[in-house]
Amino acid sequence: MRVVFLGLPGAGKGTQARLLAEALGIPQVSTGDMLRQAQADGTPLGQQAREYVESGRLVPDDLVLGLIEERLRNRDTDGGFILDGFPRTEDQAKGLDGILGRLGVALDRVVLIELDAAVLAERLGKRRSCPACGAVYHLDSKPPARAGICDECGERLVERPDDQPERIRRRIEVFKAETAPLEAYYDRRGLLARVAGDGEIGDVQSAIRAAVGRAG
Ligand code: AMP
Repeated sequence: MRVVFLGLPGAGKGTQARLLAEALGIPQVSTGDMLRQAQADGTPLGQQAREYVESGRLVPDDLVLGLIEERLRNRDTDGGFILDGFPRTEDQAKGLDGILGRLGVALDRVVLIELDAAVLAERLGKRRSCPACGAVYHLDSKPPARAGICDECGERLVERPDDQPERIRRRIEVFKAETAPLEAYYDRRGLLARVAGDGEIGDVQSAIRAAVGRAG
């Protein structure tokens, strides 16, 4: 199954994509995680991306498309993948169509997780993430068992530099200007499913499973 997750920053894309990927036994491909990893590794791509990521602006399309094409050529995506945080512009969506065409595959579903902007800002302010394994927590609704420590790998949790209020505002603006048009792009092709993102994590996951035809 090949699925794209769309949604404002903080809508729960990462958390939900991870759960669905585990349930289906296919990789979660997050461009945000890949870019943060490239920064941590100090690769040339990471250095090029840093100023964009930290300020909440989009990394140029050609960089992201190169990264995605390389990732989707890896054999572990042969049985499917969940794209989380990509595509984010119409040019990226067109670029993705080209990549999938060259690989001889097609998308099955695009899931849009909908959430009110006020809820998002609150969620992002209380988000903590693991720089080592990418696990995501929320101080109130999904706290780690030991304060400040990742349940999965024991690493110290961090607050993302782009989760500060003024950068959150910029990311929401960027989404509305650049990413929101993708809703119509995929709706025209009958691929779009809208899911309400304001419930419990498990309930949202059930709605997503139903939307991708893998309920139960
Ligand atoms: P995320 O973890 O998905 O919220 O992404 C964090 C940041 O990484 C974004 O604010 C962008 O700076 C960058 N980024 C992630 N995915 C993309 C993408 N598909 N296109 C451009 N920039 C991206």
